[in-house]
Amino acid sequence: KDTCNNDKYHTPEQALKILFGYDSFRAGQKSVIDSILAGRDAFAVMPTGAGKSVCYQIPAVLLPGITLVVSPLISLMQDQVKALNEAGVPAAFINSSLSEKDYNETIRRARQGIYKIIYIAPERLATESFLTLAKSVPISMVTVDEAHCISQWGQDFRPSYMKIVEFVKTLEKRPIISAFTATATETVREDIVCTLGLQNPFTLVNGFDRENLFFQVDKPKNKEQYILKYISEHSGDSGIIYCATRKNVDNIYELLKSKGISVGKYHAGMSAVERKKMQDDFVFDYTSIVVATNAFGMGIDKSNVRFVIHYNMPQSMENYYQEAGRAGRDGLDAKCILLFSPQDIVINRFLLDHKEMQDLDPADRETVRERDARRLQVMERYCYTTECLRNYILKYFGENPEKPCQDCGNCLREFETLDMTEAAKKVINCVYEAKGRYGRQIIIDTVAGAKTARLEEIGAVRYKSYGVLAGTNKNLLRRLIEQLVLEGYLRVGDYQVLKLGDISGLKNPEASVSIKITDEDKQPEKAAKTKK
Ligand code: ADP
Ligand code: ZN
Repeated sequence: KDTCNNDKYHTPEQALKILFGYDSFRAGQKSVIDSILAGRDAFAVMPTGAGKSVCYQIPAVLLPGITLVVSPLISLMQDQVKALNEAGVPAAFINSSLSEKDYNETIRRARQGIYKIIYIAPERLATESFLTLAKSVPISMVTVDEAHCISQWGQDFRPSYMKIVEFVKTLEKRPIISAFTATATETVREDIVCTLGLQNPFTLVNGFDRENLFFQVDKPKNKEQYILKYISEHSGDSGIIYCATRKNVDNIYELLKSKGISVGKYHAGMSAVERKKMQDDFVFDYTSIVVATNAFGMGIDKSNVRFVIHYNMPQSMENYYQEAGRAGRDGLDAKCILLFSPQDIVINRFLLDHKEMQDLDPADRETVRERDARRLQVMERYCYTTECLRNYILKYFGENPEKPCQDCGNCLREFETLDMTEAAKKVINCVYEAKGRYGRQIIIDTVAGAKTARLEEIGAVRYKSYGVLAGTNKNLLRRLIEQLVLEGYLRVGDYQVLKLGDISGLKNPEASVSIKITDEDKQPEKAAKTKK
C-alpha cells in the first residue's frame, strides 16, 4: 500500500513547488531528475550549494518504492530528514546517533513501507537487520551522496563506501543508482562511475564557475594586520577565516576578540557543546565572523557569507574551492582571499606527513602520499600564478574557460611584462631534442642543467640545450612553458609529455614571447629551502 500521501504532486515541477516552495529548477537539476525518472543511472558533479539534494529527493518521492540515500554526514542527514518530514515526506535516517530502540523502531516502520526516503550511513548497510529489511521492501533507487568518498584517489576516501557495491549486489532487483559529488577531478570521476558500477549513467558536470565570487591571492608581510584592516573596512559583514591549525585559530580568535570584533571559533579540539554554540551563533548572525579549521562548514547552509579568508594555504584545490565556496551562496558578491606565505608550504607538508592513514591498506599509503604532494603543488602554483585565478581553478576541475575573467585578483592586477623570446627558443629546441618524450619537469631540469640521475639515464645531459638556461628562476620557466602551450608553439600529449606544437618554432623574426611577472619571479633560482 502506498502510504506516501503524495497525490498532491505528480510532476517534478509540482513536487519542487509543494515540497520546497521553489518555482523553477536551477541549471541541470531538471535533466538529472528526468533521467532518473526514466529509469537511468545518474552521476552529477555539482558545486556545493548548487542544489544536489533536490535532484534525488524529487525522484525519490515520485518513484514507487523506497530511496536509500547513503551519506557520511550525520548532521546533514538529520537536518534533511527533519526538513522532509516538515514538508510532509515520510523520511528517516539510520546512523550511529540512533539508540538501539530507535533503530529497531525505524526498521519496523520501514518494513511497513512508511518511509519514502531513508538516509543511511555506509557502514550500516552491512548490518544483518538492514539487509533483511532491504530484501523485504521495494527499493527504487540507491543514491550515493558525497560519492567521491568511494574513490581512493579522492580527498576523503572512506573504505565503508565499498559496502555500497556489495549491498546493491545482495538486492534481487538492481535499483537505479545515482551518485552526487561536489568535487571530482577527471580521475576521481572515472573512479566513481567504475567502482559504483554505474550503467550508462546520465552525467552532469555542472558549471563550477561561481560568478559572484571574487578570487584573490595576497602575500602580506603581516597577515594579522591584513585581516584586521579587511574587517574594519567591511565591518558587519559575515565571514569565515580558515586556518591550518588549531593554534592559529586560537591566536586569530583571541586577536579579533581583543579588538572588540564579534567573533566565534571552531575546531576539533573544542567540546561538541562549544562547537555547536559557535556554529549556531554564526549561522543565526549573532556573531559576524568565525575563525575555524577545515572541520567547520560541512553541511552548514548559510547564505550571506560575504568573505572567506584563508589565513593559511589549504592542502588542495579541492579543499580550497569547497571552503571558499561557502561564500556568497545567496548569489551576491563575495570575496575569497587566500593569504599566502612560503611558511604555509612547510606547515602543510608537516600536516600531510602526520596524516592518519590507519584506515588505508599499507600498499595504498605511498600512493596517497604522492597524490597529496601533487595536490599541494597545484595549490602552491595557484599562489604563484599570474594567470586568471578563476580559470586556474576551473581548469583544474576539468573545464575549459575561453578567456580570462577580468574579475579576479590577477586579472585586475598590473604585472610587468618580460620578454622571454630567447629563452623560449631554447625551450623549444630542448623539446625538439627530447623528441616529444618527456614532460615539463624533465624539460625544465634539462635547460636548467640540473644534475640528476634521471637526466643521466635518458641522456639529456648530452643535449645541446642542456644547461642553456642555468640559473633562471624555475617558476619563470614553468610559466614560459604554459605560455608556449597557450600560444601553440608547444602542445601537451598523452601522459603530459611536451611535443612541438602546430606553429613550428620562433623562426619568424617578428615573433616574440612574453610573460607577465611579479617581483618574486625575478629572484634567481636558489637551492631548495624546504626538504623534499
Ligand atoms: P548542495 O547539496 O548541492 O550543496 P543543497 O541541496 O543543500 O546544495 O541546496 C542548496 C540550497 O539551494 C538549499 O537552500 C536549497 O533549498 C536551495 N535550492 C535548491 N534547488 C533550488 C531551486 N530550484 N530554486 C531555489 N533554491 C533552490
Ligand atoms: Zn580572472
